[in-house]
Order: sequence, then structure tokens, then C-alpha cells
Amino acid sequence: MTKHSILKEYFGYDTFRPLQEEIIDQLIDKKDTLVLMPTGGGKSICYQVPAMLLDGLTVVISPLIALMKDQVEALRANGIKASFLNSSISSVEQDAVMWAAKLGELKLLYIAPEKLFSGNTMTFFKELKISLFAIDESHCISSWGHDFRPEYRQLSIIKTEFPEVPIVALTATADKITRKDICKQLGIAEENTFISSFDRPNLSLEVLPGRKRMQQIQDFLSTVPNQSGIIYCLSRKTTESVAANLQAMGLNAAYYHAGIPSEKRSKVQENFINDDVKIIVATIAFGMGIDKSNVRWVIHYNMPSNVESFYQEIGRAGRDGSPSKTLLFYSFADVMMRRQMIFDSDMPLEQKELMEAKLNRMQQYAEANICRRRILISYFNEDLGKDCGNCDVCKNPRKNIDATVIAQKALSAISRTREKIAMTMLVDILRGSRNQQVLRYGYDQLPTFGVGKDLRSEVWFDYILQLLNYGAFDIAYDEAHIFKLNATSMEILKGQRQVQISEYISPQQRKEQEDA
Ligand code: ADP
Ligand code: ZN
Repeated sequence: MTKHSILKEYFGYDTFRPLQEEIIDQLIDKKDTLVLMPTGGGKSICYQVPAMLLDGLTVVISPLIALMKDQVEALRANGIKASFLNSSISSVEQDAVMWAAKLGELKLLYIAPEKLFSGNTMTFFKELKISLFAIDESHCISSWGHDFRPEYRQLSIIKTEFPEVPIVALTATADKITRKDICKQLGIAEENTFISSFDRPNLSLEVLPGRKRMQQIQDFLSTVPNQSGIIYCLSRKTTESVAANLQAMGLNAAYYHAGIPSEKRSKVQENFINDDVKIIVATIAFGMGIDKSNVRWVIHYNMPSNVESFYQEIGRAGRDGSPSKTLLFYSFADVMMRRQMIFDSDMPLEQKELMEAKLNRMQQYAEANICRRRILISYFNEDLGKDCGNCDVCKNPRKNIDATVIAQKALSAISRTREKIAMTMLVDILRGSRNQQVLRYGYDQLPTFGVGKDLRSEVWFDYILQLLNYGAFDIAYDEAHIFKLNATSMEILKGQRQVQISEYISPQQRKEQEDA
């Protein structure tokens, strides 16, 4: 059979999607390959078609044990002999699968990495005729990725143990250094990397300040009535309270997180796929392997910890290519919390720095004054070549203003309080609020007290963030996020440097401009 007849006969498709055919040819030629395709891009076909073309067994390594059964059932329904090995099945069943493999009765075998390296599995594999190793979610092999899994590390021995067998590593999410590392560990030549475009022009991108989120969600939902969508939250508790709020508004919503019994979880998932539930409020536990094409919107109630996760999560909307909306709520407090979580974790220092750098990139996206899609796409080392016209920045470019005096006011307040204050206190001092904390420290006596009364507090929050990004001052993550002056601060205070930032536009103004 040819690859086209296999595609048609077993999978029911007439044509390959971009790059699928090239990747398949490459594997038939026994060339090790790295495949980067966004979620829903069609990675599975890239190893399933070679599995059917090549003589022997294709071994698919995946950490997503929960999905294996469904994947295998889908293949069997298409008349493909497939099976899986992981800790969810009994040892008797595992033996039966091993026998089937030995007798040459299988074309595809899915296996979890921990299973591959336990007991005598490796020895057993050595006796089989293996045609191809497919390593799914291959970014898990790299500690440069956002989802490093130590059990993946051992996969580097595949090349030494099976030098003759081609390897295809697949991932939907890997920045440049992660890709390099995957190639290095699996012995793949870097030039054999295939990257399909990550651009999803049908997804609109919008960021709004994380204030009065429920109200903003209600407004947003009125623009997508009765459409399926997902709201991602950081904590399990938030998913429950947001879902309850939506239900109280009369909306058809359910929550989903890893803390609810797996039976109930499958039920919620099924209801969503069948359109019996329209809105899922979930932690990141939701979405892996869900193939629902008509998700029309995704909201991030809290900012994700990195661009890879964010892109993967919004990528669950609009898989059918129709216009779909995404909204990210951004608040400084959320970023601080994420930063604190990294700081408090017991990761090695190097890993913490990496996670922090990734968080910074995510924050830059949220605070962007240039086309947001450019930022996303450039993260995956692609160049969009033009502004997208489908993000809030493109739709409402912000005007630049001279913020030298604004910066001087903020910096002198930081200096007058001897660099002991964080965001909220700084805004209180600038705005001249006589609250308890201010009075307790006598900050109402400072000459800078109230010098920023002319700007509303949300404007100050926005400008201070921009100034922080500009580098006008530093922030001490190890000291309750208090602000510290640096060399740039001094230049600004002395009037040796002019500062430009973007003019504040309120969410309301933004909406009006968009409607106009
Ligand atoms: P990924 O693993 O990259 O997230 P999948 O392999 O699950 O994506 O494929 C996503 C969807 O695209 C599936 O529904 C799949 O059947 C479909 N698909 C893949 N390749 C093709 C193709 N050549 N033509 C039509 N549909 C395809
Ligand atoms: Zn844009």
C-alpha cells in the first residue's frame, strides 16, 4: 500500500496536511526526526501511517496514561492492530499484550516511559522487530522545557540500545533551546526538525486587567451566547466558585479539576464534548487529548506560568478554523503569586531561574504594546512578518506619552520611603490615601504624598508596571516584592533620561473604540 491509500483506507482522509507527508517520507527513509506541530495539528498521522507502511512494530512512548486507552480504541475502530502497556492494566493483561507483540500481531504499541524502564520490558523489546519509536510530548525530556519529567530522561538510551530503529520525537510546545536539547538527548540531527506553523489566525487575542473578573466574564459571554468554551483557573477552589457564579447567572457551566473522582471527571468531559455542558471551568488538568473542534472561546481567569502552556490552552479553541475568542485576565498580584511559588519551591536554583525567565516572557505578552500574536509566534521562532489585526493591540494601538514626570514622582516616593514599599503602598502614597498602613508609617508626612492625585489608581498600576518593564526600577522578589532603585532610576530622577510609555486606555474605552 502507498501512504495515500493508507491515509484514505484507515483514517478516511483524502489529503495530507502540511508537512505530514514530508515527515512520513523521512521516517520511511529511517531518518530520525523532530516534529513540532501545534495541538490539533495532526501529529499522530506522522507516525501512524509509517507504522502501517513499515514492517514490524511501532512503539509509541507517551506520559499520558489516561489517554492511551482511547487512542488505542480509536485505532482499533479504524481496523488497526494496536494495544497499550501501562500501570492501569493488570499484569495478566500486560502479559497478553506482550505475547501479541511477540507473535507479530500488533502494529502499534503505546507505552508509558516508566513501564518501558521497569522489569524486563527492555530485554523483551530487544527480541521484537521494532520499526519505529515515536516519542510523544517529547519536550518532557528536557529540563529546559516547562514540563520536565525525570522518567523521560532515560529515553536517551533508546538510540544506543536500538541504533538501527528510527526515532520520531513529537511535541506541540518547545522553544528553541528545548528543541535543541530534545535533539541532543535523542540523537536526532537538528536539521531534521520539522516545524509546522504555529500561527492560528482564527484565534483573537485579548488581555484585560484582572479586576471585577466575574462582571467582565459576564460581558464577554454575552458576545458568544450559547457557545462552548473553557475558563482556566489557577486553583481548584476558584474553578468551583466561578462555576457556581456562572450557574447562579443561569449559565450551563461545570467545573473540572484533578481533585474530583475520575468517574465524575470523565462524565463532565463527556458532557462537554456532547454539548450538554457549554462552559467548563477548569484547572490545567482539563484539555489534554480533548478533540472538540467547536470550542469557540477560552478565558484565562489567572495568567499561566509560561507562554507554552498559554498557547497550548488557547489552542483548544477554534480547532475547526472558525473565528474564536481568547481572553486573558492580567493582574500584578497574580504574577507576584506565581513568582512567589517559584521562589518557594524546592527546585534547584538553575531551574528556578528558568521558570522565572519563562514567567517573565508571559508577563511581557500580557503587558505588550506591540501586536500580541507577533510576541506569541516569535516565541516559537517564527516571524509573522506583519501585525495580525486580530488582537486587542492591533485593534487599538496605544499612544505613546512622555512619562518622565510620572516616573520621577513614583521614584521619589520609593526613595523617600527608603525603598521599603511595594506596589499597593506606592499607589496609596502617590494618590494620597490616608489609610491605616500609610498613617502608621507616617507616610502622609512625605513631600511626595498625594503628588499623583490626578491619576486614578488603575492608571497608576498600569504605569508603574510599564515603568518596571522599562527598567526604571527593580523589584526584590526575596523581600516581599518591594521596589528598589537602580542606575536607571537615578538617571530619571536627575532628569538625565526621558521615559516614554503607552497611554492608559480603560477596558471600557477599548470596547467603545472596537465597536466604533
Ligand atoms: P495532535 O496530536 O497534533 O494534537 P491529532 O493527531 O490528534 O493532533 O490530530 C488532530 C485532528 O486532526 C484529529 O481529529 C485528526 O483526525 C485530524 N487530522 C489529522 N491529519 C489529518 C488530515 N490529513 N486530514 C484531515 N484531518 C486530519
Ligand atoms: Zn496583532
